[in-house]
Amino acid sequence: MSEKTNRKWSNSTKAIHAGEHVDPTTKASSPNLVMSSTFAPSEFAGFSALNREGYSGFSYSRVANPTVNNLQEKLAILEGAEAAQVFGSGMAAAHALLMSRLTAGDHIIFSEVNYVGIAELIRNSLPRWGIQVSPVDTSDIGEISSAIRPNTKMIWLETPANPILRLADIKEIAQMAKDRMIKDVVVDSTFATPIATKPLELGANFVMHSLTKYICGHGDAMGGAILGSKENIDDLNLEAAVHYGGILSPFNAWLISRGAATLPIRMKAHEDNAKVVVDFLKDHSKVDTVFYPGLSTHPQHQLAKKQMMNYSGMIAFTTKMPGEAIAKNMIENLGFIHFAVSLGHHRTLIYWIPTDPILKSSFKLNKRAEKKYKSIAKDGVFRLSVGLENPKDICEDLDRVL
Ligand code: PLP
Repeated sequence: MSEKTNRKWSNSTKAIHAGEHVDPTTKASSPNLVMSSTFAPSEFAGFSALNREGYSGFSYSRVANPTVNNLQEKLAILEGAEAAQVFGSGMAAAHALLMSRLTAGDHIIFSEVNYVGIAELIRNSLPRWGIQVSPVDTSDIGEISSAIRPNTKMIWLETPANPILRLADIKEIAQMAKDRMIKDVVVDSTFATPIATKPLELGANFVMHSLTKYICGHGDAMGGAILGSKENIDDLNLEAAVHYGGILSPFNAWLISRGAATLPIRMKAHEDNAKVVVDFLKDHSKVDTVFYPGLSTHPQHQLAKKQMMNYSGMIAFTTKMPGEAIAKNMIENLGFIHFAVSLGHHRTLIYWIPTDPILKSSFKLNKRAEKKYKSIAKDGVFRLSVGLENPKDICEDLDRVL
């Protein structure tokens, strides 16, 4: 099936068939898993990846691997991107992109509240390499605009953002970046997935996913992906995959492809379940505030309606009683729900993110932003990744520990 045909399919057909091919020798219907690290080509293929002009076959799995390529094709077609490069984790993907696109003397603007690993990487490591960093509230276009400097090369967005589900208006920000000649707008779209939001269509030039989450969907393989134009992804492959080396194992690519095949149907079920759980939580006497983009009380619900075709299964909530005691009760007394980090799995996962430690270790906000975060997160936020169990059972399990 040609890529042109694949791109016309709907999401559910793309998720199953894109990047998959019947094996020409055995006629196997399911994709092969090719674990080989090297390949024996029928022609001389050069030695350095820089000396392979005109050679399109496989040579070494750090450069390219058939199973990994299949996943990259599936992801690119689902996202509406020209190409994808996958890595061994979401963090490896983020690191690869930041390192290969930014140089000492450049400036990056990023979401002041986002996934802690990326917050820490940008805040703590980039300045050591001579890159200037400005954390801003990316839900406020005025704050982004005021932070722009002549050397701003990248705006890094995460929407919805970990852990308070704050959104950023990708279209508006990408337009401003274009007007102000900023080279890169990157969207970490892990919470949204390609089923909810298509950042490239909205004007961003890179999308990032932690494949560990919804795209794999079963909590058994880690991975990360960067998607964008073929030219940019070819550059990323050479600099980041070949030279930094944080590539994805073919086995994980195979597992993630199998998970991705059911992404559209799972996202629909995650959203349906999340709506039931949101209704239960918002009326619960022990719950203070519920944050969910699909809820009319979410501060950016209008943007969510415009930008998200699926509200996903991620919910954040605060409690009236101190969160720490409730978190301890959850560890001891939850039934099937796991008190565990990560998200987007078929199992429901919940975790408590206490405010003071996260502000100190990761977000390091200025006084004004800290006040704003505390007014939302109180003493801490429960991050709930609603799984695919029966939603009534999920509510019952939560009710016992709140
Ligand atoms: N981005 C987001 C939004 C995340 O939630 C995470 C992990 O939780 C990452 C990136 C990092 O991904 P990984 O754990 O696959 O390295």
